[in-house]
Amino acid sequence: MSNNDQNQHPFRELIEAFALGSLDPEERAAVAAHLATGCAECAKALSEAQWLVSQLAYLAPEAAPSDILRGRLLKTVRAEAAASKAAEPQVLKSTIPFWMWGAVAAVTVFAFYNAYEVHREGPIVDDTARELARTTDELHKLEQQLALAHREALILTDPRSRKIAMPSGKKDMPPLQATWHAALGIVVFGQSLPMPVGNRTLQLWLIPKAPGAQPMPSLTLRPDADGKFDLLVASPPDSQADTKALAITEEPEGGSPQPTTTPLWVGSVTED
Ligand SMILES: [Zn+2]
Repeated sequence: MSNNDQNQHPFRELIEAFALGSLDPEERAAVAAHLATGCAECAKALSEAQWLVSQLAYLAPEAAPSDILRGRLLKTVRAEAAASKAAEPQVLKSTIPFWMWGAVAAVTVFAFYNAYEVHREGPIVDDTARELARTTDELHKLEQQLALAHREALILTDPRSRKIAMPSGKKDMPPLQATWHAALGIVVFGQSLPMPVGNRTLQLWLIPKAPGAQPMPSLTLRPDADGKFDLLVASPPDSQADTKALAITEEPEGGSPQPTTTPLWVGSVTED
């Protein structure tokens, strides 16, 4: 911002604080008076700041968007995780989603906070806009991750979800645990899995009840470097009522339209 800008928009630096409601009454009145003159640049800055504040509010409805935002949101997230755990104590002790939910939320808040800092301190409007555009792009990706993590947590904790044990046919292979929520989808989780050779992958199948029906192909996923397998199928190709069993086979990269190997894990979906 040049000196000329400073002179024309003496309250530009206070716009974000104004949007946050954190100015003292005198400053607040001064900014309001300047905005009342119809200054387009400051009005634009205000609407951007208000957008940012609304995004922060969306993430943490209980928290004031301030320096303590991150700490408070994390506390909220932990409390939510603890409450969910207390409500469903028999859920797999070692499941990751609560942890993941917290981590993703933390990263998201960091991104928002950085966007806010950049916005507040960025001396050149164009740079700030570019920075915000890039951060916004990152945020959309994070929002998607967050939504998936949240969905997975809901599937795992809802008592209406059906738990489906998926033992392995191989003696030394750890079992998988599937959890199927009628509306939200299927989570298949396992740990200490061996890595499929080359680019081969693990693929989930839904075995229909209808006699002679072909297995319905679902998603593929490789275990991570630690052998953790955490698959979320948000839109299963078939319903619980029409499905006899879940199976997982090893397939070439990208998956197959029909299984090409004997299932490594199978779990029965039939009524308990
Ligand atoms: Zn102005």
